[in-house]
Amino acid sequence: MLYVSTRNDNEKASPSQAILKGLAEDGGLFVPEQIPVLDIPVEKLAEMTYQETAYEVMKLFLTDFTEEELKTCIRNAYDEKFDTEEIAPLVKAQDVNYLELFHGATIAFKDMALSILPHLMITSARKNQVKNDIVILTATSGDTGKAALAGFADVEGTKIIVFYPKDGVSPVQQKQMVTQKGDNTLVVGINGNFDQAQTGVKQMFSDKELGKLMKESGYQFSSANSINIGRLVPQIVYYVYACARMIKSGEIKNGESMNVVVPTGNFGNILAAFYAKNMGIPVGKLICASNENKVLYDFFRTGTYDRNREFILTSSPSMDILISSNLERLIYRIAGNDAEKNSSLMKELQESGTYEITEEMKERLSVFYGNYASEPETAAVIREIYQETGYIIDTHTAVAAAVYQKYKSETGDDTKAVIASTASPYKFARSVMTAIDRKYENRPDFELIDELETISGVKVPQAIEDIRTAPVRHKTVCEVEEMQSVVKKFLNI
Ligand SMILES: *Cc1c(COP(=O)(O)O)cnc(C)c1O
Repeated sequence: MLYVSTRNDNEKASPSQAILKGLAEDGGLFVPEQIPVLDIPVEKLAEMTYQETAYEVMKLFLTDFTEEELKTCIRNAYDEKFDTEEIAPLVKAQDVNYLELFHGATIAFKDMALSILPHLMITSARKNQVKNDIVILTATSGDTGKAALAGFADVEGTKIIVFYPKDGVSPVQQKQMVTQKGDNTLVVGINGNFDQAQTGVKQMFSDKELGKLMKESGYQFSSANSINIGRLVPQIVYYVYACARMIKSGEIKNGESMNVVVPTGNFGNILAAFYAKNMGIPVGKLICASNENKVLYDFFRTGTYDRNREFILTSSPSMDILISSNLERLIYRIAGNDAEKNSSLMKELQESGTYEITEEMKERLSVFYGNYASEPETAAVIREIYQETGYIIDTHTAVAAAVYQKYKSETGDDTKAVIASTASPYKFARSVMTAIDRKYENRPDFELIDELETISGVKVPQAIEDIRTAPVRHKTVCEVEEMQSVVKKFLNI
């Protein structure tokens, strides 16, 4: 299996090369030439562990990894770092199944892929006789940064640099990042938003001059963002796993399908669900939930993508994004795998901030449903689910839950649904607790965390205990224009 760039059919890469590069040289994203079909019956999948499922799915995409290599990566990734053997448990509340993707080291769904990416990267480097040190350059809206840092800290032959919007992450997210240990790590706050961080990082990737300088000093860039197929592929696994569990528990019958609801920012998680559907997993609608930065909702409704609008800071900061990178992979596909067409749309996006797809392309989006939840709607659904069931969800998951309520009342479709639960409520304790009761408004962060434990009966996760007293190690803050010089300084080039 080969991967092609969404902007140039002639740029092809093996799976391991695509992982190493992160982004294609022309600025496009790597996509598999075809999406493979899962050739294993669901009854058999239903008996498999998470790790076994991961192998069955990933081997179809990472065809130049040996069985031994891939199984070793999987074993090292999905181990005791997760606080449950199931890795991604399904929890039912109010007739909906929440797929809890936050049981890894940094308590957000980014751990699902970022606990395996460093292993895939190192294996890929070995396969391709790479002698350079790999510099992971990452922009984060809050969760990718910490999950990538945790994965790459002190991994030999790598360095990792993370840029986050200084005023655009939750207090827990920030504390998690700036306390990161490891001599090969650098964490930098920027005076700007996530889109600016992401654009700055992408520019460095395609800066030929910088690339040359890096090479001379024995470095090469790669990415831990969801533009890397080494992140996308592991994310397909949990949709396959969830479906198998739904069948095993009798929630859905063999032959029935399930809807999937995903709180969306960069469009990576929901794209993985789309790939899972294309592999043959019985998924009905893909419900794309946005917060008040509802650029995707408008896109699904009108066929026009328009990022020219105010950037809103919400209580679901990991979805505060106006340029959803991974949407490019979907655009390429609905354009009929047409790199030229996609390329011209992406050029329009870069130049004017907007593009419009054709009627024909729009018709191919019918498996998607998009909607959004306002801040009051998000808070209300947290409170409602807690009051009715005692279950507490985080703000991102709440955006999905609120959108799912809208979907059901609009369409009357009562197909069983799985909501991707993307973060532990502990990570957003302040927003979650004040949604439940305004009386918590002026209490200190760690008091709220202890109170959350009391009212939820869910133990404070280790990731939170770890930052209670940890010293701040990263104090660098820079302007957007200074990102490149910060990188050069850290690498001494
Ligand atoms: C990253 C993130 C999202 C958005 O996922 P995308 O793949 O960027 O669409 C949603 N919720 C949480 C908690 C996240 O960390």
